[in-house]
Amino acid sequence: LLPDVLNWTERNPWPLDRGAIGRAARTGEVQIVRALDMEAGAYYFIGEDSRAQLCVPLVMRGEVLGVVTLESNDDAAFDAHTSNFLERLAQRAAVALDNARLFRQSEQLADDMAVLYSAGRAITATLERDEVLKRIAQSMAVALECSSAMILDYQPERLEAQVLVVYRVGTARNSQEVLPPLKTVLPLGDYSTLIDALARRRPVILRAADAHTPAMELDLMQQMGVQAMMLMPLVAQEEVVGLALVIEGRQDRVFSPNDIFKAETLGSQASVALCQALLYNEVRELEKLKSEMIRMASHDLRNPLGNLMGYVELLDMSFRRTGKTSEQDEFLNNVRRSAKIMQSLIDDLLTLERVESEREAQWQVFDLGALVYEVVEAARSSANLKRQIVRLERAATGTLAYGSVTQLRQVIANLVGNAIKYTPDEGQIEVSLSGSDERLEVIVRDNGYGISPERQVRIFERFYRAREPGTDHIVGTGLGLSLVKTVVERHSGQVWFESTPGVGSAFGFWLPPAPPQGRTNRDRA
Ligand code: ADP
Repeated sequence: LLPDVLNWTERNPWPLDRGAIGRAARTGEVQIVRALDMEAGAYYFIGEDSRAQLCVPLVMRGEVLGVVTLESNDDAAFDAHTSNFLERLAQRAAVALDNARLFRQSEQLADDMAVLYSAGRAITATLERDEVLKRIAQSMAVALECSSAMILDYQPERLEAQVLVVYRVGTARNSQEVLPPLKTVLPLGDYSTLIDALARRRPVILRAADAHTPAMELDLMQQMGVQAMMLMPLVAQEEVVGLALVIEGRQDRVFSPNDIFKAETLGSQASVALCQALLYNEVRELEKLKSEMIRMASHDLRNPLGNLMGYVELLDMSFRRTGKTSEQDEFLNNVRRSAKIMQSLIDDLLTLERVESEREAQWQVFDLGALVYEVVEAARSSANLKRQIVRLERAATGTLAYGSVTQLRQVIANLVGNAIKYTPDEGQIEVSLSGSDERLEVIVRDNGYGISPERQVRIFERFYRAREPGTDHIVGTGLGLSLVKTVVERHSGQVWFESTPGVGSAFGFWLPPAPPQGRTNRDRA
């Protein structure tokens, strides 16, 4: 072989515009050449005394994948017979080559998908904005095999972008780029290509080695020591929510259509994640505001309400001195009743709010049995007023729970209170507490009014009150059971109930027992 034959490589390809090999490649037809030394522009590879060449293209689906060439120093080496034989061989070789190529393509595709998949997962796995931004930058740099990436905030009115996050790939040690500090403002108006990319909402690629790169852009790239970069607008719901800048500082880099596809796929995932993070922040702020407002409103309502109730009693007293009519008495009772409803509404709202915002820092291991006992004893006086019988049955040991005592006291008090409220005079109420290794269960059973099946589905909704025959006069807010459910679920437990109208109801909940040796869930985690 001539020495330079071995120098033809992928990067330094065999010229296809010359010789029989080129013709075979271009036309897809078999070429037989004799008297090679007579042919103009002949291309041979065995040496000066090369005389004949047989070039058979490897064709697959009308496309030339390669050329098999035989060369000989014998003019008569190749005839129709050899050519025929080689053509059949070439057909099989083309199939094998095509398979190998497809295999490599699908492997590449699978690799790309894996990269995109894990990058996408990383981006969407959090809702904290700063963390989302960092992960977008990281995923983009890694997926595009670049040395670093930045995420910028885009301010369309000022045509500026501000650096929010900068990420440099750990293994890109020899890269030259100088990344701007956080919060650096980039005046986009100076860079026509960037403005264009923003307008079209498509990525733009800039290379220092490209003669078409505008001077301003080139200047910026030189300042930053960047060889190539891709700017990618992050678009969500038709709006640019940010910019991703993927940077290569090590060598010139040509981005393939596949790279652009990867960047766009990641970009759209990143935009959605960014929007979600922004929404999440907003919701969190609103949630805080809501809590604050409920707290303020309830506190502010409490005082005037207290005044109102005080004056109702004063009015009642002064009426009593002068003698009041039955109508006046009825009016006063109505005012009293309404004020009471308002008071319990405020109380329930405040409690519910406290439960939702209370941290687990105050949680402790405590005896649920003792708590149930305490609540039942406290409720006896109201049960006595209705001449109801309240029975308590509880396991003597093994009833340690872990959680908020105040919240669970409220839960049990609500259930017992409801049983008393929604059971007519002289009814019976049974409270039981049982414990096992898996759960502690509290059940409150009554033989009261019950709830009809069509209303049962809604009783845990906030403010829902199931009106059954005979319960019209009972005062309530419809917040109690919603509080019960919230608290129990927050303690990793569950609420259940069964009820038959006119027969009675049973409300129960279970909780996991306290972890052994007083260890808390958090300690275990
Ligand atoms: P409230 O008692 O303030 O109305 P709750 O949220 O505690 O609100 O209860 C919601 C509704 O469920 C009540 O209005 C009532 O109709 C029904 N309910 C709750 N407990 C019982 C019970 N033990 N027996 C019958 N109905 C009940």
